[in-house]
Amino acid sequence: MTCTEARLLMSAAVDCEISFIEQEQLQQHLALCAPCCIEFETVKKTKLIVRARLIQFKAPQSLVNSIMELTNADCRHK
Ligand SMILES: [Zn+2]
Repeated sequence: MTCTEARLLMSAAVDCEISFIEQEQLQQHLALCAPCCIEFETVKKTKLIVRARLIQFKAPQSLVNSIMELTNADCRHK
C-alpha cells in the first residue's frame, strides 16, 4: 500500500467503514510508515473532537463521556 492509498483509507477506517482486509493492509503500512502513523492519530483525534462537539449540543456530559469511551475503543471487525 502506498502513502496515498493509506491516507484515503484513514477516514473510513476511523468510522469502521473499511473491510477487514483493508484494515490489515492499513495497519501494516502504519507499522512501517511513521508519517502516516502520525497522520492517522490526527485523523482519529479530529473525528473524536467533531463528534463530541456535535453531541454536546443536545446530550448531558455523562452521555458524552460514555460515547467518548466507545469511540476510543479499537474498531472491532474480528
Ligand atoms: Zn505512509
